[in-house]
Amino acid sequence: MGKVLAIANQKGGVGKTTTTVNLAASLAATKRKVLLIDLDPQGNATMGSGIDKSQLDNSVYELLTDRCTLAEALCQSEHGGYDLLPANGDLTAAEVELLEFKMKESRLRYALANVRDKYDFILIDCPPSLNMLTINALVAADGVIIPMQCEYYALEGLSALVNTIQRISSVLNPALQIEGLLRTMYDPRNSLTREVSEQLSSHFGERLYQTVIPRNVRLAEAPSYGMPVLMYDKQSRGAVAYLALAGELVRRTRKAAKQAAPVND
Ligand code: ADP
Ligand code: MG
Repeated sequence: MGKVLAIANQKGGVGKTTTTVNLAASLAATKRKVLLIDLDPQGNATMGSGIDKSQLDNSVYELLTDRCTLAEALCQSEHGGYDLLPANGDLTAAEVELLEFKMKESRLRYALANVRDKYDFILIDCPPSLNMLTINALVAADGVIIPMQCEYYALEGLSALVNTIQRISSVLNPALQIEGLLRTMYDPRNSLTREVSEQLSSHFGERLYQTVIPRNVRLAEAPSYGMPVLMYDKQSRGAVAYLALAGELVRRTRKAAKQAAPVND
């Protein structure tokens, strides 16, 4: 059964989309079957996957509002080796339209039910707010990856997200867990970065990924070519870091599956 991960943080500009696109490409490069779902009306993950968001026949908006099937909305990333459920500005309307549906928080979970086992990983790029779209992602997910910059205000926003995750896991999706916290745009020379990093480590323990994503200009350049950084400059520090993150995620997933498996004796 595929693992569904929401990449979420209600703060904008922390590296959600960069992480979703590059983690998807890195997992695909290690022969995992991956679906990336763009759940942000900005459509940055769609463009970053080499798909023109202004030319979509169908998108996640049509899927969530019952206007098309999943198969009709799916496409393939141009270079990344993963499948894509794209988004564009139409998705803004879904936020209001979803309120009309019964089980409005579970629309995405329901839409994915038949394909979960066709993928090893399904990654959902969330919008920068805790709105109905993000709630749909959290209800559909098994785990949440929280990208964050190690700066003072980052910690402030974190408690609202953690509370939302706890509320959803107690009411709508008991399986939901914090999969991991990811330090992005990391600069170890900055003393505040190191201080915040230590606080995160003592608070979240093993859930803090050992892999850190450095600030790397290649990561910022790649989307304008519609490519993950692995295809744009595979030697770059950004590409190496996201491959390492994919490795850490796969190892953690394997370890968790082993611990959950029944012991035969
Ligand atoms: P979010 O999806 O959380 O809003 P993005 O992934 O779009 O954040 O990143 C915000 C901006 O920072 C983008 O311009 C992106 O290219 C850039 N960026 C993200 N991660 C890095 C990094 N590790 N190094 C350099 N630039 C980055
Ligand atoms: Mg984004």
